[in-house]
Amino acid sequence: DDNPINPEIQLGDDDVVDRALRPEYLADFVGQPKLKEQLSIFIQAARSRKEALDHVLLFGPPGLGKTTLSNIIARELNTRIRQTSGPVLERAGDLAAVLTNLEPHDVLFIDEIHRLSPVVEEILYPAMEDFELDIVIGEGPAARTVKLSLPPFTLIGATTRAGLLTSPLRDRFGIVQRLEYYDTKDLARIVQRSSDILGVPTEPDGVQTIADRARGTPRIANRLLRRVRDYAEVKGDGTLTEVMARAALDMMEVDPQGLDWMDRQLLTSIMEKFDGGPVGIDSLAAAIGEERGTIEDVIEPFLIQQGFMMRTPRGRVVTARTWRYFGLQAPASTET
Ligand code: ADP
Repeated sequence: DDNPINPEIQLGDDDVVDRALRPEYLADFVGQPKLKEQLSIFIQAARSRKEALDHVLLFGPPGLGKTTLSNIIARELNTRIRQTSGPVLERAGDLAAVLTNLEPHDVLFIDEIHRLSPVVEEILYPAMEDFELDIVIGEGPAARTVKLSLPPFTLIGATTRAGLLTSPLRDRFGIVQRLEYYDTKDLARIVQRSSDILGVPTEPDGVQTIADRARGTPRIANRLLRRVRDYAEVKGDGTLTEVMARAALDMMEVDPQGLDWMDRQLLTSIMEKFDGGPVGIDSLAAAIGEERGTIEDVIEPFLIQQGFMMRTPRGRVVTARTWRYFGLQAPASTET
C-alpha cells in the first residue's frame, strides 16, 4: 500500500462496533476534565481568530483516547482530519505527499509519532514551524532545494510516552497533554454509554464490575463489555448483571483488580525468579518472553499506577501489596 493516508482499512465486526462507540464531541468524551477544559479553550480561541490550532502532542498508554480525541478536535474545529502514522511514513516523499495535500486549517494526525525516521522528522520541523516544505530537486552537484509554502495546519501527534520523542520535535508542539488512566467511576460511565448504544440492558452492579476490571482503559472496558454481552446472551437473558459480568470475566481470566494473564505473569516472575527485584527491564523481558517496549508502554504503567510495582534506579521491584495479593511470602530483606 503506497498511500500513506489510509482511512478505509478492512473493518472486522469488532472494529465496526468500536467506531460506533467512539465519542464525536468533547462533551461526549468521558473523564479527563483538565485536558477537556484546556482543549476547549484553545479550540474556541483558534476558531474565533480563524487560525489553525497550535500543534498538539497527546501522550499516554494505548486505548486511553488519543485517536478519539484527535478526531474530536478536528470536528470541533470544523476541519478535516488526515490520519497517518510514524511507521507508515517511511520516506521523505511520503510525508511531502501528505503535507502538500493539506488544506488550510486541516488536522494532520500522526499516530506513533516517535517512530518517524530521522529524515522524515527533519522535513517536519520547517513544516511545523514555518509551514514550509524543503524539497530537494535533482541529484549530485545539480541538486537544489526548493521551498514550498504549505497552508497553516495543525499537527496532532500521539505517542505512548513523551520521553520517546527527540527534544527538537517535542519542542515544536505548542500544546502538550498527557492522558491519564480513568478511574472506575468514569469507566462505569463509558460502559453504560456503550451499553446504551449497543442496546444492552444493564444493571448498575454489572456495569461497575466491568469498570472495576477494565485496567483504567476505555478500549479495554468496551472490549470486556462486548465479551460479557456475548456471555450474557448465551448463558443468561442478555442483561448485563453482576453475576454475568463476574462469570464472564473470571472465564477470561481478568481478575478483580483488572489484572490479566500477562500482568500476573510479570509480577509473579519478579517475585519467583528475582526475589521481588530489583530486576533490570531486559532480564525481565527475557524471563517472561515479552518485548521490552510492550512492558514499558503497556504492561507496567498500570501496575505502577496501581502500586503493584515500582521503577527504581536499580530496576523493577514489586511492592508489599503484590506479595499479599498473590499470597506469597516476601523474603525477609524486602519486607517493609
Ligand atoms: P488511543 O488512540 O489512545 O490508543 P483510542 O482513541 O483508539 O485510544 O480509544 C479506544 C476506544 O476507547 C475508542 O474507540 C473509544 O470508543 C473509547 N474511548 C476512549 N476514550 C474515551 C472517552 N474518554 N470516553 C468514551 N470512550 C472513550
